[in-house]
Amino acid sequence: MSYQDNDPLVWSAIQQEAARQNRNIELIASENFASQAVRAAQGSVLTNKYAEGYPYKRYYGGTEYVDVIEQLAIDRLKELFGAEYANVQPHSGSQANAAAYMAFLKPGDKILGMGLEAGGHLTHGAKVSFSGKMYESYAYGLNPETEELDYDAITQQARELKPQMIVAGASAYSRIIDFKKFRAIADEVGAYLMVDMAHIAGLVAAGLHPNPVGIADVVTSTTHKTLRGPRGGIILSQEKYAKQLNSAIFPGSQGGPLEQVIAAKAIAFGEALRPEFKDYARQVIANAQAMAETFNASKNIRVVAGGTDNHLFNLDLTQTELNGKQTQDLLDSVSITTNKEALPNEQLSPFVTSGIRVGTAAITTRGFKEGDARKVAELMIEAIENPNDAKVLQQVKRQAEELSMLHRFA
Ligand code: PLP
Repeated sequence: MSYQDNDPLVWSAIQQEAARQNRNIELIASENFASQAVRAAQGSVLTNKYAEGYPYKRYYGGTEYVDVIEQLAIDRLKELFGAEYANVQPHSGSQANAAAYMAFLKPGDKILGMGLEAGGHLTHGAKVSFSGKMYESYAYGLNPETEELDYDAITQQARELKPQMIVAGASAYSRIIDFKKFRAIADEVGAYLMVDMAHIAGLVAAGLHPNPVGIADVVTSTTHKTLRGPRGGIILSQEKYAKQLNSAIFPGSQGGPLEQVIAAKAIAFGEALRPEFKDYARQVIANAQAMAETFNASKNIRVVAGGTDNHLFNLDLTQTELNGKQTQDLLDSVSITTNKEALPNEQLSPFVTSGIRVGTAAITTRGFKEGDARKVAELMIEAIENPNDAKVLQQVKRQAEELSMLHRFA
């Protein structure tokens, strides 16, 4: 039976999603296009296999081939980031963070992480997340003038709060993060330092952002953003913490590992070790900077923090007619995919917001260069400045789709 006959409803939705991904310009900063090999591994027979435990120490028989695969993933990941220890089993970035906390903290301990509005992630202590419910969480923000991390202010806050753990890393921060400064703050107050490099992991792997491994006590990440692997998580650390981190994943917070995803991670880490990956990461940053410059030259749209050093930036829309949600919807209607984003000092609800986040990891995989990136920014400006002009919007949509289809993915 064909897939289509087996389940026409699901398979036709998958086909439509594939068409949408080809047609739309994808600017969600946390997304990318994984290679065919990565996707094939995820759909492989490995999904049939249980393998609780770790390579060569399992609770099930028949694990001789998944052991090879998981060990390859671990070895490649260690090589990629120069780590002594790696765990490739976390099902997601959130699971990696939950396990990292569990390995170093007791419920009720204090954590100090970046606030959501400043660009932090839910799992860095937001009150709606397990991280804000199980731990006494506090948030640091940005310098209101520069919209960048203010290490003196964070030092002050850490001195007052005396947290057991400081969390560095972000979901929507466009500048380099100084991990050594975070280390000095953690050392001064006797805290562990965790770095969540989910967004920038691909740039770190390419040597284009400072590497937190060897500076932080524990480093977590997703594998599907700039790193361009399957949807999943990882943990890196030093050998001395191996036992407590392994047991925080299994049996602490997960059961059987997803070996089909681990195989896809191994393939993606292999891809990231190749020299071409450096060129890719360099182009991601060049494209983000080309777009940010184009927005900076516009009349009413402001780039938060003035620009970008990485793969993303946020746009402040408060001088336009639109809020974040309206802009996201408007851009969706012209085949450009973004997400609404709270700004530092946000006045609107998280469902509305005053900004959008823009990232270039996905379009760069599709082959966009600086000229294409500038064109995308121009199309966005055109739409945002003419939200009620059907003719302009139609033209923008046509040009966006033409540009996207020029760079189809396999
Ligand atoms: N950490 C950061 C910094 C993130 O941006 C994200 C997701 O966007 C996560 C963790 C969570 O990853 P996941 O969605 O895989 O749970």
